Formats: sequence, C-alpha cells, structure tokens
Amino acid sequence: MTWPHACVRRHESLADHTSFRIGGPAEWFAEPATVEELVEVLREASVRGLPVSVVGGGTNTLAADRGIRGLVVHLGRGFRTVQDVSHPDSPTATLVCGASLLTQRLVYLAARHGWGDLETLAGLPGHLGGAVAMNAQGIGRFIRQLSLVAPDGTVRQVPRERLRFSYRYTALAPGIITEVVLQFPKVPPAEAYERIRQTLTYRNSTQEVRLPSAGCAFKNPPGTGAGRLIDQAGLKGARIGDAQVSSRHANFIVNLGRATCDDVLSLMEHIQRRVRQVFHVTLEPEVRMIGERLG
Ligand SMILES: Cc1cc2nc3c(=O)[nH]c(=O)nc-3n(C[C@H](O)[C@H](O)[C@H](O)COP(=O)(O)OP(=O)(O)OC[C@H]3O[C@@H](n4cnc5c(N)ncnc54)[C@H](O)[C@@H]3O)c2cc1C
Repeated sequence: MTWPHACVRRHESLADHTSFRIGGPAEWFAEPATVEELVEVLREASVRGLPVSVVGGGTNTLAADRGIRGLVVHLGRGFRTVQDVSHPDSPTATLVCGASLLTQRLVYLAARHGWGDLETLAGLPGHLGGAVAMNAQGIGRFIRQLSLVAPDGTVRQVPRERLRFSYRYTALAPGIITEVVLQFPKVPPAEAYERIRQTLTYRNSTQEVRLPSAGCAFKNPPGTGAGRLIDQAGLKGARIGDAQVSSRHANFIVNLGRATCDDVLSLMEHIQRRVRQVFHVTLEPEVRMIGERLG
C-alpha cells in the first residue's frame, strides 16, 4: 500500500508510545507534521476503510497486546506551536497552541509569562490534545475553541459550548484535535512558580511516579475516591502477571516490567468485582484502551 506521505510507517510498537510501556504494533502509524498532511492521510485511510485511532503522549492509554488494526495517528513536532494572541490591554492571556504541545511545557511557559491558574496541571504528563480529550485536571475551563480534523478529512472549528466539559469528559466528535485556543487570567510569575512547586510536592508525595503506569485506572465515583475504595477492599499490592496495584496509590496500576495488556485488564476486572462485592459500587475505567483484547 502506498500513502500520500512518508510520515506513515508500518509496524510501530505502541509500547514505545505509551507510559505503561505496553502494546503491540500499529498496522500503520502516521506522524503528520502539518494539517494538510493529516487531512491527506485521513482521506486515504477513509478510502481504504481503515479504522483510525489517535495517541498523544500515551499517558492515559492501554494498547492491545496483539497490536492495533488500521491507522494510528500521532501528531508530530509541527503541532507543538504556541502563539500568544492576547490583546496588550486585556486582563487575560489568549494562546493558540498545537495539540502535540507537551502539557508540562505549557505549564512552565505560562509561569514564565504570567499566564495564571495552570498550577493544577503541574506534573500532568502527556500532550495538550490528550489532556483536552480527557478534560484532564479540568483543563476544559481554559478552552475557548478547538480545531478538529474529522475522519473524512474535513477541518472544523468547535466552540467551547459544544464540548460540554465535565469530570474527565469532553463531548468530542470523532476526529483529531489539531489546535486549541486557551484563555487564562494574568498573574505575577513568582506566584505561578510557587503554586507549581506546591502542586508538584503534593503530587510526588501522593502519586506513583517511579514505575510505568497510565495514572489513575478508574474514575472517582460520585462522593468518594476510587483509590480509597480499592485500598479499603484490601487490594493494594494485588498482582496479576506483572501488573500490580500500586502500594503507594491504590488507583494506579503499575507495570513491574513485563506486564501485558491482558494482565492489566484482568487486574482491572478483579478490582471491579471486589469493589462491587464490598461497596456495591461499579468502578468505571479512566484509562482508554485501543485495539482489541486477545481471546
Ligand atoms: C504518572 C501519571 C500521572 C497522571 N496524573 C493525572 C492527573 O493528575 N489528572 C488527570 O486527569 N490525568 C492524569 N494522568 C493521565 C494522563 O496523563 C492525562 O489524561 C493526560 O492529559 C493524557 O494526555 P495524553 O496526550 O497522554 O493522552 P493519550 O493517552 O495519548 O490519549 C488519551 C485519550 O485522548 C485521545 N486523544 C489524544 N490526543 C488526541 C487528539 N489530538 N485529538 C483527539 N483525541 C486525542 C486518545 O485517543 C485517548 O482516547 C496521569 C498519568 C500518569 C502516567
């Protein structure tokens, strides 16, 4: 099969593109550098009837052991742009950012320039597009509008009202976010750096940051923490294969070295069963799976 761009490769390992370090090869893997390249690649995939998945930083993604059929899109460095379009007299800062910008780069740029209130995003791994798709740490409150390329290659502007952000949820139509318009209040840089320092201290003392994981495995049910329920169900340290419930933060599943996607899914099912038995609460996964499970 020939593609319109050299940005498409074959058999790229998803383990190299996910923080879990788990996953088989993508049948096709595209790293477009521009919107035009992305549009052409998506049109080609659509003509060929290939399913399309998207991976950003891969820090909330569990990829199938047998690999991913069709095309996996990973936006390239061309989508790491940051443009300050603020009016000089405005009390707010307005930025236009590419979707593969590292969320942490945005946090530090914001502190340096005095674009405020981003401290809750300090330490959040992954790309801006992934954070917006997940509404990670409530990033939706800063979003004014985004650009999305639909699976048929149509480019659309989506205003914030249509995105209906809520806890770990964004009402996103199928497609790939390429650009995001964000707005922040202005704050003194020293204040922003101090808040980042506090957030990082808290995060490093409570989260599992040493072993590969995808952050929290489950969403918090209303009124309580998933980690607390998992801990109280006696599951800290529970292990299937090389997937283990972290002894530091019970909502983190860690890869001890050779964990498979199947190990992680089996452990998640075990956790769900046990928590349902003890607390009559059904935990909903926060981690997103791509590809199909073995079996
Ligand atoms: C150590 C650790 C700590 C974490 N702490 C937190 C935390 O405190 N709070 C929190 O909310 N999350 C946390 N996470 C989870 C994760 O970091 C966030 O959800 C992050 O914002 C995901 O970004 P990503 O680019 O890695 O997304 P990915 O994992 O690549 O993708 C996540 C989802 O977004 C979709 N997506 C990605 N890019 C695009 C795009 N351009 N267009 C459309 N859809 C797209 C993917 O298809 C997938 O469905 C943590 C993860 C780790 C490993």
